[in-house]
Amino acid sequence: MSDTEKKTGSKTFKEYYADPEFKKKHLAYVKEKVMCDCGKEISRSNMSAHVKTKLHQKKLDRSVLEDIEKKYLDMILQEQIKNNK
Ligand SMILES: [Zn+2]
Repeated sequence: MSDTEKKTGSKTFKEYYADPEFKKKHLAYVKEKVMCDCGKEISRSNMSAHVKTKLHQKKLDRSVLEDIEKKYLDMILQEQIKNNK
């Protein structure tokens, strides 16, 4: 009994990828677009690179700021309406 005869059932990603059916599914999966937190649609394959971009980080910062600003303005508006009555 030699070790070379002992084949395990686990394939490497490369071996899986050689299967055209697997490749097709995998490509479809990574090309699928998902909505990022910053509001931009990004394909899965680009997501890891996208979250490191300045555009993404800037947009996220701004949307958080805008949210706070909006709540603050609402508060002021509510106060003004109350005071005018
Ligand atoms: Zn983003």
